[in-house]
Amino acid sequence: MGSLDEDILDGRALERDEALALYAGAVVPAAAEALFDAAARLRDRVFGTTVHYMATMGPILACAIEPRCEYCDWWRARVIARSRLAGGAAALAARGIRRVLLVGGSRDGDYDDAVVDVVERIREQGLDMEIEVNVGGSLTAAGLERLRALGVAGVTASLETVNEPLFRRHKPGDSLAARRRVLVEARERGFEVRSIMMIGLGESDADRIDHLLELRACGGLRHLMVSRFTPRSDTPLAERESTTMHDWARTVALARLLLPHVRIGLGGGVDLAELPAWHRAGGGNQLFAMGVHTMEPPPALRELATPLEGGLRLVDRRPLLDRFLSDAGLRPTFTDRRLGP
Ligand code: SF4
Repeated sequence: MGSLDEDILDGRALERDEALALYAGAVVPAAAEALFDAAARLRDRVFGTTVHYMATMGPILACAIEPRCEYCDWWRARVIARSRLAGGAAALAARGIRRVLLVGGSRDGDYDDAVVDVVERIREQGLDMEIEVNVGGSLTAAGLERLRALGVAGVTASLETVNEPLFRRHKPGDSLAARRRVLVEARERGFEVRSIMMIGLGESDADRIDHLLELRACGGLRHLMVSRFTPRSDTPLAERESTTMHDWARTVALARLLLPHVRIGLGGGVDLAELPAWHRAGGGNQLFAMGVHTMEPPPALRELATPLEGGLRLVDRRPLLDRFLSDAGLRPTFTDRRLGP
């Protein structure tokens, strides 16, 4: 028997009890080093030293989920005018971006026509750009078929938490069942699936491990973003404590061990100062290097923002990311290679 990372690379799937024991054993930072070592070695063996730079663009549609999710202020952001979408994508392409994640709002029902229209407007530009779409649980099976026909590469089905009472409490207008349906139906149609889990809504260790095991059982996951709850002002959870960075990092490490071929990225609530913790815990190999949005960037990123027509801003974070990658012996790439399985 080899080391844990070697065994996993040889195809041994961690059992639930084993994963729970490793997770609990890493609850204290000083005891987590061996777990981080294994996760980081596994990441290195699967992905090597390249990191895929891609971009986000949004909001592409208004969020019509009500009541609003209790931790969210994204729904307040002004939606990008449809006539400006192509210009935003072209500006990203001009800087080298080859894959963009278009981010909603969601709607209870279907957003098929609207999402198809958004994708068609970008496709009309003839850009060499792969597209992913994240509109929560708002796409029907027919809508997924239409997006597949348009060549959309990826669909996000973000479960956030698989603890159903917690989901209902903090996302009272949203549907976990709809998001699970999109996860399965997107997979069945051959999309690369992205998912997001949030750490810190009150879920237990077992909830988190069961979440990762559900994603493993579904198969076909390409990206997982691990978000760290951090309170946003003017939301119902504004007074709640942030999740600690260590709790977030040990979850990244377990995600790496349970999902060895999945690109594990930064989620909401994790800023670039945490890149070393992400890398140390086995995160990799994808980062959002740029974004086109309507919101004012945070002070630390203002110097990196370029205004575009229509009140859009393109934030190019490469000066910060490149420095980290260089120090860590990593190399950025705009074209991600396909991996099995
Ligand atoms: S679905 Fe919830 S988390 Fe997503 S934008 Fe709407 S309110 Fe925010």
